[in-house]
Amino acid sequence: MQEVLLLKCGELVLKGLNRYRFEDTLLRLARNRMKKIGNFDVWSMQSTVYVEPVGEQDMDRAEEAALKIFGINSVSRAAACQKDIEEIKKTAWEYLKDRLRPGMTFKVDAKRADKKFPLTSPQIGACVGGYLHDMMPDLVPKMEEPELLITVEIRDKAAYISFERKRGAGGMPVGTNGHAMLLLSGGIDSPVAGHMMAKRGLELSAVHFYSYPYTSVEARDKVVQLAGIVAEYCGKIDICMVPFTEIQLAISKNCMEDYFTIIMRRMMMRIAQSIAEKKGCGALITGESLGQVASQTMEALNCTQAVCHMPVFRPAIGLDKEEIIQRARQIGTYETSALPYEDCCTVFTPRHPQTKPRLGKVEEQEAKIDVDGLLERALEGVEWVTVG
Ligand code: ATP
Ligand code: MG
Repeated sequence: MQEVLLLKCGELVLKGLNRYRFEDTLLRLARNRMKKIGNFDVWSMQSTVYVEPVGEQDMDRAEEAALKIFGINSVSRAAACQKDIEEIKKTAWEYLKDRLRPGMTFKVDAKRADKKFPLTSPQIGACVGGYLHDMMPDLVPKMEEPELLITVEIRDKAAYISFERKRGAGGMPVGTNGHAMLLLSGGIDSPVAGHMMAKRGLELSAVHFYSYPYTSVEARDKVVQLAGIVAEYCGKIDICMVPFTEIQLAISKNCMEDYFTIIMRRMMMRIAQSIAEKKGCGALITGESLGQVASQTMEALNCTQAVCHMPVFRPAIGLDKEEIIQRARQIGTYETSALPYEDCCTVFTPRHPQTKPRLGKVEEQEAKIDVDGLLERALEGVEWVTVG
């Protein structure tokens, strides 16, 4: 008996060429993902991606990885066998006998995609259900809400028997909506923001600003680790590490204290945008949430936005901190984000930051530093790290 994974595609109700593009991307992503785990044959037909192990493979890990692929709506493990009703009955029993208990309620649902198969769907259901009942007479057939819902699918290449369908990651295959640059701090919000946008089909690159010696090597490693967790969902991420100390020192030496954060944020956006352009990205992504801190009021966001000509996606803008934390826990970044290393933002925090900065005033303060020279030197000092 061979166990396989059936991955059903999600938002591919798209028509025409887009649909093929999506399916091709999805297949490529699934192949890449499975290659990291072992030797699998991965192919697709009729909006389903089939993952077949070649020899003995770790199916638990394969399933776990499949559940993180965007564009997949559901993942089922299934036993595959020849399209012959006797084979199907025996395989169903072999596959399910350890999961069936006397007294358990069950139902067999059949789907016949291959209309050449001699039995109709209800006949297949009755036949397989009857066989299982014969093998374990204490089983109780139940049409509504059975404890075990068994599905038999007669597809092109084979018949598949499954008993559980897990909800997939949903969304769209990564890359089908382009490429964007995530501003990734070591905090809770930005990894969640990256995950949310990758789910909408964006390939991610990331940029991180660090301020040695004010921020530690551990803080930087934490960011690489966070990107690694997000990469389990979206595939490879190139991270651009940007030295930010000189800029922060220049701001704190020359500008009024209550404008430190907003000017720093504008410098970050300028740098991120410049790197994004070189990388072919069409947008920036941040983890900002309206009103969460002084630099995320509407007025402050406007001052930050003023230096960007690219769209800035802020998917967490309308989420409460609690909701962001819940998502971080779900995707697995929370524990790492919660590690207590300082971020460059927190090192030079003013005592009374402006919550309603006016753009004219910000520009006036900013004119006290050599913006172009600072940007140029920061960009000269970047290093790239790849994860995933
Ligand atoms: P997070 O939890 O993501 O750190 P935050 O609530 O701490 O967010 P801020 O520090 O104001 O908020 O940062 C807002 C956004 O700016 C972050 O979500 C992130 O996108 C970006 N950002 C902040 N610090 C950095 C950094 N050191 N490197 C890259 N991006 C950063
Ligand atoms: Mg932060």
